[in-house]
Amino acid sequence: MKVHEYQAREILARYGLPVVAGDVAATPQEARAIAERMGRPVVVKAQVHVGGRGKAGGIRPARTPAEAEAVAGEILAMELKRIPVRRVLVAEAVEVDREFYLGVVMDRAARRVVVMGSAEGGVEIETVAREKPEAIVRQVADPFLGLREYQARTLAFDLGLSGTQALSFAPIAMALYRAYVENDATLAEINPLAWTRDGQWRALDTKMLLDDSARPRHPEWEALRDPESEEPAELQARLHDLNYVKLEGNIGCMVNGAGLAMATMDTIQLYGGTPANFLDIGGGARAEKVAAALRIILADPNVRAVLFNIFGGITRCDEVARGIVAALGAVCPRVPMVARLVGTNEEEGRRILAGARMLTTESMAEAARMAVEVSRKPR
Ligand code: GDP
Ligand code: MN
Repeated sequence: MKVHEYQAREILARYGLPVVAGDVAATPQEARAIAERMGRPVVVKAQVHVGGRGKAGGIRPARTPAEAEAVAGEILAMELKRIPVRRVLVAEAVEVDREFYLGVVMDRAARRVVVMGSAEGGVEIETVAREKPEAIVRQVADPFLGLREYQARTLAFDLGLSGTQALSFAPIAMALYRAYVENDATLAEINPLAWTRDGQWRALDTKMLLDDSARPRHPEWEALRDPESEEPAELQARLHDLNYVKLEGNIGCMVNGAGLAMATMDTIQLYGGTPANFLDIGGGARAEKVAAALRIILADPNVRAVLFNIFGGITRCDEVARGIVAALGAVCPRVPMVARLVGTNEEEGRRILAGARMLTTESMAEAARMAVEVSRKPR
């Protein structure tokens, strides 16, 4: 789950990270009031879940409260990468001497949390990684001991820092690591971490991603969620408690059970096709949930065929078939469909589907092969 800069900023401030003063505003008047309260030049920043806001015009300085109001008005009227801006962060403007990058991420290959730094701050780290990988320094945190102090200092020295600059950098890296672990984040990033003209560290931009798998132990996350910035398909999937991941292929899959869904994707690949999604409707899905799942699949413009692979156990084939028929009544299917329904109530399920225009088979391999074949037919 993504959280906005102003939310990440509040979390990180609790760990003593040097975020700049500021507050969030939904109207130009609120922006003006915040600037008045701060009584100094500010930066007005669009709060949308996209990178590169600066380049897109979503970050503008304002010297006076009147200017902050005007600039906020302009930014609040913008869309960044097609997402409307609903809020701005009005933050204290800082005189920057140098910009650094500091991030904590999960390195799945290493099965460790990695703390990364770069003296090429302000730029997206992906760009640095591609064009100048040697400019990124890292330390791997021990899962039991965490990021140790000597590692934080090593990071500072590897960034070319020395003296008070290096000494004051180390606690920032350690605090960011702690914030990452204690908040079940998958990313905690400060970019830029600025060294100011008057010789202080300031976190000018903060970003956090939170691990959705940890949601059950964080009731406070519900308040951080911004439904508008979620992918519509992923939002719908979450609302219906479906396990959905969009992929790049063109065969939509609806499957019950994560293992079977993985096997279905493999089988599609085996026959030369590519899945458009992973979708596990879970055990015991009722018709309404199946209909929601089908609507999500069919909303993907890449989808050229749909494959239903249902192995009825707790899930009843007749319920699934009823859901499919209900969804087909509402969304006019524009692609061929293949259904493989076996297990509990399969005869009833097939009888219900007989009316729908759909290829059916009892073999999973055959179903995958058929789906690949019909996905290639010109429409
Ligand atoms: P992003 O473009 O979405 O990553 O947004 P950032 O918050 O990182 O802002 C982009 C750039 O704006 C930063 O790299 C800074 O160079 C600049 N910036 C942001 N806040 C300030 C500030 O208070 N003072 C100065 N001088 N520059 C700032
Ligand atoms: Mn940034």
